[in-house]
Amino acid sequence: MTNPGRHFVAVIGGAISGSVATEILADHGIRVAVFEQNTRPYGKIEDGLPRWHVEQRKQEYARIDARMKKPNVYFIPSIKLGRDFNLSQLFEWGFSAVILANGAWRDRELGAPEAEQYVDKGLVYQNPFIYWYNHKNEKDYQGPRYETPDEAVVVGGGLASLDVVKVLQLENYERALKARGIHTSMHELEKSIPEVCKAHGIKPEELGVKGCLLIYRRREQDMPLAQPPDNATPEQIAKTEMVRQKMLRLARDKFLFRFQDRRLTTGIIVENGRLHGLKVVETKIEGRKAEPIPGSEQELRAPLVVSSIGSVPEKLSGINMNGEYYTFSGNDLPRYTALERVFGVGNVVTGQGNIRVSLVHSQKVTKRVVDCMKSDDQNAGAGAASAEQQVANAMGAIGKQIEAIPQLSDHQLAEVERQVQALQQKAGFTSDYDAWIAKVTPPDLE
Ligand SMILES: Cc1cc2nc3c(=O)[nH]c(=O)nc-3n(C[C@H](O)[C@H](O)[C@H](O)COP(=O)(O)OP(=O)(O)OC[C@H]3O[C@@H](n4cnc5c(N)ncnc54)[C@H](O)[C@@H]3O)c2cc1C
Repeated sequence: MTNPGRHFVAVIGGAISGSVATEILADHGIRVAVFEQNTRPYGKIEDGLPRWHVEQRKQEYARIDARMKKPNVYFIPSIKLGRDFNLSQLFEWGFSAVILANGAWRDRELGAPEAEQYVDKGLVYQNPFIYWYNHKNEKDYQGPRYETPDEAVVVGGGLASLDVVKVLQLENYERALKARGIHTSMHELEKSIPEVCKAHGIKPEELGVKGCLLIYRRREQDMPLAQPPDNATPEQIAKTEMVRQKMLRLARDKFLFRFQDRRLTTGIIVENGRLHGLKVVETKIEGRKAEPIPGSEQELRAPLVVSSIGSVPEKLSGINMNGEYYTFSGNDLPRYTALERVFGVGNVVTGQGNIRVSLVHSQKVTKRVVDCMKSDDQNAGAGAASAEQQVANAMGAIGKQIEAIPQLSDHQLAEVERQVQALQQKAGFTSDYDAWIAKVTPPDLE
């Protein structure tokens, strides 16, 4: 254990990666303030993972709650980095270090010329679409509302795009069955649309749903639905490709959507100020390259296009970007290059939308951050250590490529604590985490 109470870390974002970092720090006696933009700290578990994952969401909420309730943890809700404070301010307040765990909330742009002008006019992005789907039945839901017409086009290929397709298909079949006087639920249909139809003595094709169309720019066996191990052999790669094809086939059997691979978006179809579909071209695949095939252009008309081609970190005022990501350097210990003692964990660094990947990444990085703190604790006690020991400590730090994070004085610690409590008070948080969660959870949240 490091010297308890001599460090105070700011963690930005309280979901999987943020709560895991928080727990590791707190278990080492380090004080942690968690700055969370929402009232609840569940991130993509609540607003990304579709709400039919009832048990999984409950379990993840409980895990996050348990981490937030650890001694030494100060939860500050409804406060957003880049809007309510910036990184430099955290150091002015006296924090020892900052861990960015704010995920990836910005949809990667579709990339077709002028497409951005038609957002919410025929074009919708995955993140707000799933947010709406997860919250739409709440009485007090105030956000945008989306239509789910039949024959929508989804641009994607990853797991999240399959969820978008599922949402559209579930909504369409629920409506079509309702029109026949058959009341079903998302939970029933999510298991298998053909099975529900069968149970009601109907053939799915009798319902007249044409189904949404998923397009992907590479081949179906290239879809990022499963990943081969690192340094995979040709056999392992072939096996992964078969797994991907099987996953797609199973999803299509259960949810009855259409699919075209090797389709690259080149333009949009606009009529009367609204997007009415996409212009696409077939592609030829060579390795990772998807080259357009001249003469294979095609129009895909659709009442709605949902783009689900990946999420990247949100651009925040005062944070430097390198392309789509913040300027982190270093794999084992991703450091924000523009400011010392700022690190990144989870989806904000990995770019991979996966709970386990976020969790493991946060564990690894946070343990390294703790090492940086221990290293300074050793330096602080160096007066008592022999010259040989001091050299050994310094060499150890260099060997592990870590920087020492200096300890805080009693006065500095008290100042940070004062600031944190003032922010909690401003947010209406009274230090009882359970009471807060009970207060801010909508009674009809699914
Ligand atoms: C449709 C969909 C389906 C998915 N399905 C699966 C699945 O089946 N299995 C799976 O493993 N993964 C799935 N995922 C991905 C998984 O949910 C995420 O990858 C994972 O939860 C990310 O965790 P994280 O903590 O890194 O980021 P996030 O969950 O994004 O957490 C970031 C936190 O930071 C907060 N925050 C953001 N910006 C700020 C700011 N500026 N200031 C303060 N706070 C901020 C957010 O509110 C949030 O609480 C899915 C994702 C989506 C979108």
